[in-house]
Amino acid sequence: MKVNADRLWDMHLQVAALTDPASPFTRRSFTPQYREMRTWLRETLIGLGLPVTVDAAGNLLGTYPGTGDRYIAVGSHTDTVPCGGRFDGVSGVLAFVEAFRCMQEAGFSPVKSIVGIDFLAEEPSEFRLSCIGSRLATGNFTDEMMNLEHRQTKKSLRDALAEWGGDPTKLFPGRSLFADGKFDGFLELHIEQGPILESRNLDVGLVEGICSVTRYDFTVLGRADHAGNTPMNMRSDAVVASARVIDAISRIAGDNLSKGPYFTATVGKVDVSPNGTNIIAEKVDFSLDIRSQDNALVDASLEAIFRVAEETAEQTGTQINTTRISRSQPAMSDPALLAVLEKVAGELDLSHTRMLSGAGHDAAYVSKIMPMAMIFIPCRDGRSHTASEFSSREQLEKGANLLLHSLAALSA
Ligand SMILES: [Zn+2]
Repeated sequence: MKVNADRLWDMHLQVAALTDPASPFTRRSFTPQYREMRTWLRETLIGLGLPVTVDAAGNLLGTYPGTGDRYIAVGSHTDTVPCGGRFDGVSGVLAFVEAFRCMQEAGFSPVKSIVGIDFLAEEPSEFRLSCIGSRLATGNFTDEMMNLEHRQTKKSLRDALAEWGGDPTKLFPGRSLFADGKFDGFLELHIEQGPILESRNLDVGLVEGICSVTRYDFTVLGRADHAGNTPMNMRSDAVVASARVIDAISRIAGDNLSKGPYFTATVGKVDVSPNGTNIIAEKVDFSLDIRSQDNALVDASLEAIFRVAEETAEQTGTQINTTRISRSQPAMSDPALLAVLEKVAGELDLSHTRMLSGAGHDAAYVSKIMPMAMIFIPCRDGRSHTASEFSSREQLEKGANLLLHSLAALSA
C-alpha cells in the first residue's frame, strides 16, 4: 500500500477553498465554512462506503470496519485560527481519509476497526476554549464550560453543541465517550509548527509527548512621574523593572537548553500604562507562557524567575505581583505506539527523530483515556497559524505513508 500523493494534495486544495473569502485561509469553528468542511468530509467518507456518525461531543467519526470488536483511533481537526493555514489540523484528517482509500483499494481487511475522527473546534474558539471536541469526548471538562457563551451569538456551548450534531445530555465531566475500553490506541498526524524537522532535513518527527503549558500574569507597579524633571535615581519605573525581569526570563529559559528537557518561556503580551512618551510608567502588565514536559524543571525555573522579580522590585522601588493563570500536565506518548511508528518509519526509509510538541493538540486529551502517539511532518520555515503555512506534496506523502502503514500494523 502507498498513498496517492496527488490525490492527497488535491484534497488539500479542495478544502482550502472552504474559507472565509475575506481572509484566506480562515475556517473558524461554528461558522458556515466549517459547516461546509464537515459536509465535504461526511460526503467524502460516505462516498467511500464508510459509516459516518457524530458523537455526543460533536466530533465527526468515520469508521473503516474491522472483523473484530476492538478499535484503533486516528484524527485531528478541520477548524483554523483567523488567517490560519491550509495544513494545521486538516492534514491529519485528510491523511486518514487517504489512508482509508488506500486500504480499500488494496482490499485491506483489518481485525480492529479504525475510527477516523474530526474533533470539533480544536483551536481557541469564540467560546474562549480550545480542544472542545476532544475535551468533551474524554470527560475533561466542567459544567461551567458547557455554559460558556459565544462572543457574537451569545449562544451557550451546550446549545451550539446540539446544533452541531452533539448531544449535551449525554456528556458528563469525568466520563469518557470511549470508556468501554475497546480502544487500543490513537494516532494524530500534524504539521510540526516549528523549525526543527526542516532545519535537520528530516522526513518525520515521532512525538514523544506534548508539553504542559504554565501561564502567569505579572503586574509591576511603579509611580508615574515627569520624564524630564525626575532624576534617574529618584524613579520607580515599571518599564525598567519589567525589562529586567523579562530579560531574566529569557536567560533562565536559555540556560535550560543544555539541561535536556524541552523548555520554552515566552513573554508575548505587555501592556504599559499610562503609555505616554514623557511619562515614567506607573504600571506594566505582562504575560508568561512556559512549555515543558519536565514538571521539576518548570518549578525550578519559576522559582528562579520569582527570585529575580523580588530582587528587581527591591532595586527599582517597584512592587511586582504574580498571578497563576493555569498549569496543565504534560501528555506523554505511549512507548509501544512510538516503537511501532519508529519501526514503520525505518521500513519506509523515512529519516526521523523523536521530539516534543510545545503546542497543544487533541491528542493530549485523548492520551488521558487511551495510548497515544503523534507524527509530525515538516512545514516551511517552521511557520504556522499564518496564510503562508506550507508543507510540500512530498512531505505530506511521507507522513501519510507512515500513518497508513502504522494504522495497518496496529489494526491487523
Ligand atoms: Zn492543529
